[in-house]
Amino acid sequence: MNIEDCCKIMEDAGVKPTSIRILVYRTISQLHDTFSLNDIEELLSSVDKSSIFRVLRTFQNNNLIHSIDDGSGSQKYCFCHKYGSCKTEDRHCHFYCEICKKTYCFENDLIPSIVIPDNFKVKEINYIIKGICPECQKHHEQ
Ligand SMILES: [Zn+2]
Ligand SMILES: [Zn+2]
Ligand SMILES: [Zn+2]
Repeated sequence: MNIEDCCKIMEDAGVKPTSIRILVYRTISQLHDTFSLNDIEELLSSVDKSSIFRVLRTFQNNNLIHSIDDGSGSQKYCFCHKYGSCKTEDRHCHFYCEICKKTYCFENDLIPSIVIPDNFKVKEINYIIKGICPECQKHHEQ
């Protein structure tokens, strides 16, 4: 993703494009699956963790990333491929591997639509499938 596109996406989402935000956004746009604060810290070792945390919080507030609760206790996020304009029905399912603790994005598997009773206000929907990923199954067989 070039810097120009990146700035445009942020402005459309209501986020002021600062250099650190651009750096973080371009980094996460290349990831295929969910990521944690620690993952980004490892990828961007020159940036301090609290700054990355603040950037992720801003992105989350503006829907540029979504928080995923996979039950592992560590906060994970996934990159919004609709650049902040997705609706609840566009959200996809995730697969949590109980061995490597990685959470995969199943981009093509959308969360089944559920009829929510009146007067309940939905804030977040998580659809997590738990099991063992292909990588870990390979190691298991050896
Ligand atoms: Zn989204
Ligand atoms: Zn695994
Ligand atoms: Zn995802």
